[in-house]
Amino acid sequence: LVEQQKAYLHIPGATADGVRIEIAANIAHSIEAKPAFTSGAESVGLFRTEMLYMDRHQAPKEDELYNTFCQALEAAKGKAIIIRTFDIGGDKPVDYLNIPAENNPFLGYRAVRIYREYLTLFRTQLRAILRASAHGALKIMIPMISSMEEILWVKEELAEIKQDLRNKQIPFDEKIQLGIMLEVPSVMFIIDQCCQEIDFFSIGSNDLTQYLLAVDRDNAKVTKHYNSLNPAFLRGLDYIVKEVHRHNKWVGLCGELGAKGSVLPLLVGLGLDEISMSSPNIPATKTRLAKLNSLDCRALLDRAMQCRTSLEVEHLLAQFRLVQG
Ligand code: PEP
Ligand code: MG
Repeated sequence: LVEQQKAYLHIPGATADGVRIEIAANIAHSIEAKPAFTSGAESVGLFRTEMLYMDRHQAPKEDELYNTFCQALEAAKGKAIIIRTFDIGGDKPVDYLNIPAENNPFLGYRAVRIYREYLTLFRTQLRAILRASAHGALKIMIPMISSMEEILWVKEELAEIKQDLRNKQIPFDEKIQLGIMLEVPSVMFIIDQCCQEIDFFSIGSNDLTQYLLAVDRDNAKVTKHYNSLNPAFLRGLDYIVKEVHRHNKWVGLCGELGAKGSVLPLLVGLGLDEISMSSPNIPATKTRLAKLNSLDCRALLDRAMQCRTSLEVEHLLAQFRLVQG
């Protein structure tokens, strides 16, 4: 590590003028938790659990999942971990589930949409998360939510499992928070309703960019169009953060955008509560964050949203970096 970065490693993420932004880690296995916290993560903002289901012949059993989550909690030493329920399907196939190939997998059968059919799998995971929540600060996050129906259905399922645990006197965190990935554009227009039912949001900028701009995130032919600096996308992000905060809820961001140093001033300008990224990016991000002024960042975002092209936004960011050093 660069000497300068060590100074910020274990202090909370904040701008030079003292605006707090939690800097969190994205992980995919419990063994990644310890290095994440060593890298200065204040929490785990995204535990992509689908990796626990991939590259094997059958789904993990409840006890295996429970142990995995407990291991992650041990490394967290009281810090929070957001467990995202499995985001299988789309670009993340799992052979033993036999989900048929689709022409349009990103618009197809993935994540929360498959939970009704693979109900035992979903219930088993919720049960494991709830049981592990007795040992630390776990939160639950559901991927690919696109409607209130899905939120209400998940809540019913969760309530049933909680009741069953109570009946059997199995301990769990009664106040466990439930959140959703904000990665399907329809959710942007029902934030008020979502806020009545859930505790927090995490913006999945990878998918939100794909769905808002109608550009396949994996298609090389259209990478030119897949640009999160598109002013329309930035306006979308600004709307989301304002709307969530208007309802006094918490909103983080856990897509790849969070790890791009040049974009950090825009994310600060948005006023996000948390940014979650892969661990190796954390030291540099915390160091850069400590040099930024939140009001300058807000002014930059306002200018960026007035740009007409992504290229103009890129120039603006380069200029900002030159001036800020
Ligand atoms: C996202 O969509 O931004 C995200 C974090 O989820 P994933 O990349 O796993 O789809
Ligand atoms: Mg996603």
